[in-house]
Amino acid sequence: MCEFCFAPLEVVYDYDGIRSRLTRERIESGPRSMWRYTDLLPGLDEHRVDLGAGFTPLRPAPRLGAALGLRDLWIKNDTANPTHSFKDRVVSVALTVAREFGYTVVACASTGNLANAVAAHAANAGMDAYIFVPYDLEPAKIVGTAVYGPKLVAVKGTYDDVNRLCSEIAGEYPWAFVNVNIRPYYAEGSKTLAFEIAEQLGWHAPDHVVAPMASGSLLTKIKRGLDELVTVGLLDGHATRISGAQATGCAPISTAFKAGAEHIRPVRPDTIAKSLAIGNPADGYYAIRAVRETGGGMDDVTDREVVEGIGLLARTEGVWAETAGGVVVATLKKLSEAGIVRPEERTVALITGDGLKTVDAVADIARPTMTIGPSLDEFASSANLDG
Ligand SMILES: *Cc1c(COP(=O)(O)O)cnc(C)c1O
Repeated sequence: MCEFCFAPLEVVYDYDGIRSRLTRERIESGPRSMWRYTDLLPGLDEHRVDLGAGFTPLRPAPRLGAALGLRDLWIKNDTANPTHSFKDRVVSVALTVAREFGYTVVACASTGNLANAVAAHAANAGMDAYIFVPYDLEPAKIVGTAVYGPKLVAVKGTYDDVNRLCSEIAGEYPWAFVNVNIRPYYAEGSKTLAFEIAEQLGWHAPDHVVAPMASGSLLTKIKRGLDELVTVGLLDGHATRISGAQATGCAPISTAFKAGAEHIRPVRPDTIAKSLAIGNPADGYYAIRAVRETGGGMDDVTDREVVEGIGLLARTEGVWAETAGGVVVATLKKLSEAGIVRPEERTVALITGDGLKTVDAVADIARPTMTIGPSLDEFASSANLDG
């Protein structure tokens, strides 16, 4: 963040130089990971911290589309990342830059997925990691961090308390806090989602992208990534509308958007969508601006709708998402019903985390159909099938 105006800092590239050397063929012959876009990312090759994040499947979702009244719906499945969320993208960039700057200790404030990703990438790079999380995270996210051997600090407070603490710690210790002092680099990793979507659609931008919002950073970088592809001549243009999704229990950005406000009033989160539970979102203002500029919309959904969204995605497409994915699917339903996402639009829903991370969210709706003794008679009478 800029110390004078408090706006997020941006990484600057030599776009003329990139435009003259970067071609679709150069990208297509690169690694099958986010690092095929290294020309548009910070960090030098020799410092790269890479577990193979990115280049995740983009697949048509016709059955979910039919359920939502959308004829050309796609799912970008970022559950297929090394630690099963989109956060591997931002962390791969952040740790690469941290290593280049000579840091030996990395750190973060996390709502869970970032903790998993930092712990795994730090282990792979042989770096020490200090990871700060709210103490009431989902068990899978605690275990899925601690297993990689970082210093894991559970803080009795909300994510916003953890984040404030980390700003203080970052002033005292010479550590690379991926989402505090090296945040501008970290945020660049999110652009690769936009790059991949365009490439996977045959170098065409989609009509609409629906993104989950925590800090709002990911959403802003979808627009930035598509804009950059136009700047360097890899896309002829784009008219992609971008829409944002939150959980009603922590919806400071969508609340401000729907009220037509510019500025965001912080809230105290109370939702099962813990990965999105940032009450004071750093990039919220910019997310609102990106959505307004592209003609998209925003909405938020109750925890009940989140669970229904997870179930609907799983039953129609065979993709099990964590709560953030439920937020996206349920919000997409509302945006479709409101006519904001239109039936004929080529729409991409970003599914950013795996269902195994939030098993408890669906424990009540995902149970055995029947429990029987090991006998044919019991099965036949319970199943009530015609023989
Ligand atoms: C962090 C996260 C996001 C988005 O985060 P932003 O802070 O808005 O960039 C989305 N989905 C999941 C699962 C996440 O962990």
